[in-house]
Amino acid sequence: MRQLNFIETGKLSWEEVPEPKLQSEQDALVRPITVARCDLDFAIVHGKAPFMGPFPLGHEFVGEIIELGSLVTDFYVGQRVVVPFQISCGECLLCHRHLTSSCKGVPYRSMYGLGALGGEWGGALSDLVRVPFAQHMLVAVPNSLDPAALASVSDNLPDAWRTVAPYLEESPNQSVLIIGGGAWSISLYAVAIAVALGAKQIDYADNDPARLALAESLGAKIIAENIPRRLGEYDITVDGSANPKGLACALRSTTPGGICTSVGIYYTDTTPIPLLDMYDKGITFKTGRVNARSYIPKIIDLVEKGRLHPEKITSKVAPWDEAIEAWHEPCVKVIISR
Ligand SMILES: [Zn+2]
Ligand SMILES: [Zn+2]
Repeated sequence: MRQLNFIETGKLSWEEVPEPKLQSEQDALVRPITVARCDLDFAIVHGKAPFMGPFPLGHEFVGEIIELGSLVTDFYVGQRVVVPFQISCGECLLCHRHLTSSCKGVPYRSMYGLGALGGEWGGALSDLVRVPFAQHMLVAVPNSLDPAALASVSDNLPDAWRTVAPYLEESPNQSVLIIGGGAWSISLYAVAIAVALGAKQIDYADNDPARLALAESLGAKIIAENIPRRLGEYDITVDGSANPKGLACALRSTTPGGICTSVGIYYTDTTPIPLLDMYDKGITFKTGRVNARSYIPKIIDLVEKGRLHPEKITSKVAPWDEAIEAWHEPCVKVIISR
């Protein structure tokens, strides 16, 4: 089968590789039909993240079921499904606590399309992917929805969801600040989710005119400036800047008792955080890898109800054979579709 590999900075290549096969009665084989570029993928391709090629690329996707093990009884061949980018078993203690990113049933950090860090599970830009624990892993795509709109439900949409939704579901009467600029699509998905859940105020800060215009069109009030020390006081703050200044600003802009989530990956232990300010206000800070599988059904439900429109964040939908060119495009969200 054909598979797109990340080779080294700036270089991707289609290669011919053996097809995966069912290895257990719990497996499914899925043919990816639409793949989204994760915010991290763009950084990897441009040498801005410490991932060494070669490895098969792509980890946000909707596919069509081609073959099922005999224990996967909730699905049928030909069905369209979202595949979470992280592999989880659904049965261990951590999965039962919804901490699917840290599943004990598979090697730690098992993921599609991220090379040695995630293990050899293959990538989504290929003709076939093996999905273990398919009864738990797969989530059906409603027939009424465009699969391309749901491609990012594997990863970046849940990553955005966890920054705002758990708190807005408790009470929408809260203010939200999202600092973008690094995790491009996650930050804008967070805006869209906060709007969908009725947050009383949503401010989006960035210095890129195109992303600011998109945030404004989604319903945010925009703050167009380079990152200052503090931007005010908000109940919920989100650092999507991937910039230590953005992280510090989000933390300083969190109201007493508020909650700040950072989706950026800081690759060192020396990133400064304003601990005294945080202590003084008693805020909660969350960072870490998203537990993608746990949030997927809620996101699909919101899209199905017509309250969330992920396609508004999509910058470009490209045909399968143009994946290499499209993957390099410096825009918020690229989707590859067959
Ligand atoms: Zn990702
Ligand atoms: Zn597990």
